[in-house]
Amino acid sequence: MDAIPSWLDRLVAGGLLIPTGVDGLYGSGAALERVLDGLDALITRAGEADRPERVRFPPGASRSDFEASEYLKGFPHFAGTVHSFCGDERAHREVLRCVEVGEDWTVGQRATDIVLTPAACYPVYPMLARRGPMPAEGCLVDVLSWCFRREPSNEPTRMQMFRMREYVRIGSPEQVAAFRERWLERGQALVAALGLPHAIDLANDPFFGRVGRLLADNQRAQQLKFELLIEVNGTGAPTACLSFNYHLDHFGQIWRLALPDGTVAHTGCVAFGMERIALALFRHHGFDLAHWPETVRRVLWPKS
Ligand code: 5GP
Ligand code: ZN
Repeated sequence: MDAIPSWLDRLVAGGLLIPTGVDGLYGSGAALERVLDGLDALITRAGEADRPERVRFPPGASRSDFEASEYLKGFPHFAGTVHSFCGDERAHREVLRCVEVGEDWTVGQRATDIVLTPAACYPVYPMLARRGPMPAEGCLVDVLSWCFRREPSNEPTRMQMFRMREYVRIGSPEQVAAFRERWLERGQALVAALGLPHAIDLANDPFFGRVGRLLADNQRAQQLKFELLIEVNGTGAPTACLSFNYHLDHFGQIWRLALPDGTVAHTGCVAFGMERIALALFRHHGFDLAHWPETVRRVLWPKS
């Protein structure tokens, strides 16, 4: 008897995900890209009344900024660093020999000053810090990045490299709280307009180790992070597709982001997991875009 194809098998057979041979590392086919483009434009429309500043960074971030961010305190297991060959001719010959005989050719590689971006908003805070004093109304930034998290898995929603779109608010505690409230509403309205059943819940981030348990407890107790969950994998365990984050003055302290009255800025962000939301659409509406509900098609592609 033939095995029942898994959800991942179906996504690959349908040309949506293109395997690379590495778990959690995929190319995307034309239909998935079309949905991602529609989604990106939809998120832009949902936020444009607030006139965010649009910036884009490469998927590599400054290693020293990354160290300052304290990401390693909570998530050392997710971090990805860029290493590079720094040797001489003899070292080069050794690399080629290792490749030839199947030995580890990477042992002589050295860490560069670049790490892989773990979340799209990370380069935004040092960018603002380098600009100097902030205006009274604070800042609102629109950013998108390929992100990396070292979480190999054959669950299609757990990718090692994926696209994250974010709106990032920097300002007074009241401004950031109002921003998060507004996006909790907008995020649910956006997902509802896409015909996706969803729920909001407090997040349970996978912080590392024993200290991580304390960080997770604190995050929940202070209600710092909510997630919007959608059934994507067909397992009955819904997947976090958007997150609504309040960092208190964590990044404000690190980057000395000061408001005009001299107080430290608070920050928050709303993050959209682009592939996860797109895969949720394929899960709920099928693999044939032409047969998706007309209302959903109009929301995603109003001009076509
Ligand atoms: P967070 O920073 O809240 O963990 O992630 C923000 C959003 O990125 C999540 O809500 C989710 O949609 C997306 N995301 C997080 N981890 C992964 C992952 O492993 N694969 C994919 N495709 N998206 C992810
Ligand atoms: Zn963020």
